[in-house]
Amino acid sequence: MLTRPLFGRHSTAMTPEEFQKFYPRLLGWIDTTLKAHAGNTQTVVSRGFPRLPLYFSADTLASAKVVLVDQLPIPPLSSWGLTRFVDFERGDFSGITYLNTFFIKRDELRNEAIHFHELIHVIQWRILGPEQFLRLYADGLERFGYSDSPLEVMAYDAEAAFMAEDIFDAEQLVAQKLS
Ligand SMILES: [Zn+2]
Repeated sequence: MLTRPLFGRHSTAMTPEEFQKFYPRLLGWIDTTLKAHAGNTQTVVSRGFPRLPLYFSADTLASAKVVLVDQLPIPPLSSWGLTRFVDFERGDFSGITYLNTFFIKRDELRNEAIHFHELIHVIQWRILGPEQFLRLYADGLERFGYSDSPLEVMAYDAEAAFMAEDIFDAEQLVAQKLS
């Protein structure tokens, strides 16, 4: 018999065994996706946003990459049998980050705040590493839904502070929150 978690929209959380089963496939999909777009990447620093250097190191802005797309690449989780993430798969987002590369919709080309938000995810990926990032992200989605998942709350809160023109070290902030 399965027990219900205290909160959440789904009755059962993904087990560690299930995660281990899908993780290599997800990593493979990410690798293929990044290779397929390798010719279209630009470094974030090359985009010339004025405020990002106040929050992120020069190394981060020189190594993080952005790809402008019409349609965001989202892993086909339900076709792998992971139907519990169908809401996420159908979600209409402005951007998505895999490792140090993020994809944003072409019409958000000049939106500095979206670049800021995705850079927060780049730092999360870097600090946590792929396995832990994906485990926490999947767990947060399942338990709380997209907008209340902890890694998104962190990114949206930091983005709100960025919009409010607070100045802070965004990389340090993420490191503190994850520690
Ligand atoms: Zn996000």
